[in-house]
Amino acid sequence: MNIILLGPPGAGKGTQARLLQEHYHIPQISTGDLLRGEIAANTALGQQVKALIGQGQLVPDSVMISMLRARLAQPDCARGFILDGFPRTVTQAEALDQMLAEMKRPLKAVIELKVQEDELIRRISGRLHCATCGAGYHEMYNPPAVAGVCDNCGSKEFTRRDDDKPETVKARLKVYNEKTAPILPHYQANGLLRTVDAMLPIEEVNAQIEAILEGLENAVPGAKKQGLGGA
Ligand code: ADP
Ligand code: AMP
Repeated sequence: MNIILLGPPGAGKGTQARLLQEHYHIPQISTGDLLRGEIAANTALGQQVKALIGQGQLVPDSVMISMLRARLAQPDCARGFILDGFPRTVTQAEALDQMLAEMKRPLKAVIELKVQEDELIRRISGRLHCATCGAGYHEMYNPPAVAGVCDNCGSKEFTRRDDDKPETVKARLKVYNEKTAPILPHYQANGLLRTVDAMLPIEEVNAQIEAILEGLENAVPGAKKQGLGGA
């Protein structure tokens, strides 16, 4: 099952992608995480993109398309994948269409997470990550079960993303509206777009997405009930 999660920064793409990854056993591909990994490892690519990310601007399409092509070629994507943060421009969406056609891996759905802008700002301003394993939290909406201790690995150190500062968030929302939102009609036109109300709590958004995916799977004649990893 190959799916895309689309939505503005802070909509919950990473949160939902991690839940779907656990449920369907297919990898989350977060291009933001891949880029932050390059920056952390101080690679040539990391050095090239650091300033752009810090300003809330997009990394050039050519760089992102090569990065995604290499990631999709890895064996863990063979049964499916969840794209989180790609595509972000119409050029990237068109390149992805071509890549997936060549690989004979059609998209099952493009799920748009719809959230009002004031809520996006509340979500981003409270976003925290475990400094050890990277697990994501929100200080009010999704805190660790034991205050100050990561549920996943027990670490007591948490970090915030550099680009979650208020002035950068404004730039990122503008970039989303100008460059990424125009992708929506592309997927509307080919019948893949499904929109969920992502203002709801995390579990309810997850239930909406899984209901959509199960519905699509059951709509395919001859599809196996257990076969979500298949295409
Ligand atoms: P994105 O990947 O789209 O930028 P995240 O998944 O990182 O967004 O979510 C942004 C912040 O909002 C995180 O702190 C996360 O814990 C929180 N969050 C995600 N989904 C919800 C939700 N449905 N309700 C409340 N908070 C949420
Ligand atoms: P994210 O973690 O998805 O919020 O992405 C963080 C930042 O990485 C973005 O603000 C961009 O600067 C960069 N980035 C991530 N994915 C892409 C992409 N597909 N195209 C261009 N830039 C990207």
